[in-house]
Amino acid sequence: MVKINKEKCDGCGNCVEVCPFGVLEIKNGNAVVKDTKNCKKCGACMHACPNDAIELENGK
Ligand code: SF4
Ligand code: SF4
Repeated sequence: MVKINKEKCDGCGNCVEVCPFGVLEIKNGNAVVKDTKNCKKCGACMHACPNDAIELENGK
């Protein structure tokens, strides 16, 4: 699943825009995972993040 590092995230919203599956949203100035089960682990959000704040973990 995707993990957002809140220390690094500045809430720019890039990841929300590029995710084709609507998995992420911005809440209180940080990206949060709203729909884990829809994440296809495509990596688009990770590549779109300017702050290296997103990690993809194996497993569920
Ligand atoms: S890995 Fe892909 S499907 Fe999962 S949150 Fe990121 S952009 Fe969306
Ligand atoms: S792209 Fe990175 S810095 Fe921007 S909202 Fe998403 S996780 Fe945060």
